[in-house]
Amino acid sequence: MAMYGIPVLILKEGSQRTVGREALRANIMAARALAEVLKTSLGPRGLDKMLVDSFGDVTVTNDGATIVKEMEVQHPAAKLLVEVAKAQDAEVGDGTTSAVVLAGALLRKAEELLDQNIHPTIIIEGYTKALKEALRILDEIALKVDPSDRETLKKVVTTTIASKYIGGPLVSEKLTNMAIDAALTVAEKKPDGIYEFRVDDVKIEKKKGGNVLDTQLVYGIVLDKEVVHPGMPRRVENAKIALLDAALEVEKPEITAKINITSPELMNAFIEEEARILRDMVEKIASTGANVVITQKGIDEVAQHFLAKKGILAVRRVKRSDLEKLERATGGKIVSSVRDLKPEDLGYAALVEERRVGNDKMVFVEGCKNPKAVTILVRGASDMVLDEIERSLKDALNVLRNVLRVPKIVPGGGATEIAVALKLRDYAAKIGGKEQLAIEAFASALEEIPLILAETAGLDPLETLMKLRQYHSEGKVNAGIDVINGVVREDMSSISVVEPLLVKNSMIKTAAEAAVTILKIDDIIAASPLKK
Ligand code: ADP
Repeated sequence: MAMYGIPVLILKEGSQRTVGREALRANIMAARALAEVLKTSLGPRGLDKMLVDSFGDVTVTNDGATIVKEMEVQHPAAKLLVEVAKAQDAEVGDGTTSAVVLAGALLRKAEELLDQNIHPTIIIEGYTKALKEALRILDEIALKVDPSDRETLKKVVTTTIASKYIGGPLVSEKLTNMAIDAALTVAEKKPDGIYEFRVDDVKIEKKKGGNVLDTQLVYGIVLDKEVVHPGMPRRVENAKIALLDAALEVEKPEITAKINITSPELMNAFIEEEARILRDMVEKIASTGANVVITQKGIDEVAQHFLAKKGILAVRRVKRSDLEKLERATGGKIVSSVRDLKPEDLGYAALVEERRVGNDKMVFVEGCKNPKAVTILVRGASDMVLDEIERSLKDALNVLRNVLRVPKIVPGGGATEIAVALKLRDYAAKIGGKEQLAIEAFASALEEIPLILAETAGLDPLETLMKLRQYHSEGKVNAGIDVINGVVREDMSSISVVEPLLVKNSMIKTAAEAAVTILKIDDIIAASPLKK
């Protein structure tokens, strides 16, 4: 009686399985490959990547978050790293390139330890301890700042914006100031003195044409729409705004109905009936006191005519997200049926006006009931420029949100990584044993960031690292690399290269957690790819 001999199939036919060290090595290799791609994009002298998607659309950028989003990564471990990078981007909106590069470095160092026959569990333990200690050290070396101090805010924004293409100091200066004004306008001051806002609270509207320097901050909401009818006013002061997600049209039946019209009288009656319904709608709107109508749906020509006769300014087919922004900004309420519209549903703005922007017309809703509504109207010659400016503004707003939320900063240019590495080595010595090696590996991985920055600055990486270690051991905790000028500086804050603590914190955490996740895997079970 053979109890064996019959193969037990637990995996689907065609599945591939890789186990143990082989699996681990394969994963590490894939993740490192991704990190290698991003490495050269790090910092203000980072190079751009040209990404071509399957439709042939081209994106040129050195923004880590954009690169990982657009790249079509195949390997599961690299995909995992992409997910982690995206999560980092969603959470703090910055530090994506650094997080991926650090994760790659942590895995390379882990590989060296594996070569010395150190078990993955020990490496994981060591990395976990190192992470905890690194976060503690970060908090210790961070500098508390006053969130209402504009100069400090400027410094942090400049560091972020400088590493992105936006064409010249004039543009950087303008965008920096605009982002700060926008952030301080939308932010709510909490009782504990901390300011909170969401980056989405600042509406960014792009309009092709003109110069980047024509980009403007509007205290209100800008709609990429025209006033629907030439007979309507182009400017309404003391606007009482009806926000509708209903169409000002006579509803067409869902099914195709055939109406037999047998006489011209019947035809007239039919048209008149339609006009009557539309006139009633407009009467109803006017009776609430509204002098502006903004709707998500369409407005029939006949209705436009009646609205114009009443002196009401109307805009149609507005995006849902814009309608919701208007709701918040004007204090109005979106109503789904004209029949239900009441005077208290109307929003308020001091001015609604159509203005010419380049070759187009746009509607500006300004002086809203809620003064926290702002729009940045971005101008630029091409879609590529507009997108890059939008990304830079979002980065700037993210950085501001981070530093307003946790008002602490750390020096950039690799200074913080060196400082943390130095202290981690002391800590490692206290722990001892094989874990000590893992904690030291963590410290070396952190130094990968200044090594790369040195390289992009045209400096000798190792020599620079030695110099920085020397400065830091002398207590110069702000010593780092001035990448733009290609020199080592004893104090990075003297050239305004500082970052929010929250970003550094999250960058190191994200990278360490990703590395640990990959190190824990000792089995890859892959289903056979679906046949296309
Ligand atoms: P990430 O996606 O990680 O934010 P960046 O390309 O924005 O990547 O690079 C951020 C790194 O560049 C940080 O380590 C930051 O300290 C450093 N950095 C930014 N500006 C400068 C500068 N002028 N000199 C030196 N380092 C800088």
